[in-house]
Amino acid sequence: MIDIIRSVVITCIVSAAVSWFLTNFNIYFWSGFAFITVLQFIGWFAFSYYTKSQVETAALEFQQSLVSEISKNEIMLPCTFCDHPNIVPISVDRDNDFVCEECDKINSVYMEIQAVAQTQPVDTTKGIEVK
Ligand SMILES: [Zn+2]
Repeated sequence: MIDIIRSVVITCIVSAAVSWFLTNFNIYFWSGFAFITVLQFIGWFAFSYYTKSQVETAALEFQQSLVSEISKNEIMLPCTFCDHPNIVPISVDRDNDFVCEECDKINSVYMEIQAVAQTQPVDTTKGIEVK
């Protein structure tokens, strides 16, 4: 509440000062006062809209970089030319090409995702029951 009163007082002081200055140019004090007050409100809305959109853009960029970091995994793959093992960062949102550390040739990573049935691990601590 104190903040609102302070803002209104500052707005009125600025409006009064500027409109007092404008009376030198034969502009009526109260019309100048009203005009400057409206101008300050418009300026404030424009400023807060701009700040808000900047913050939203930064948050979105941060979120996108976070998603890209999370989706990254590393896998050991042998080069298709020289069989040298390479550690390759794997990401699901782009092509996963890599240059072999040994022979400098470009390899492509082919990924296939498929569903398989779940199996139950065999409990080897129990003996086999023969009927
Ligand atoms: Zn190689």
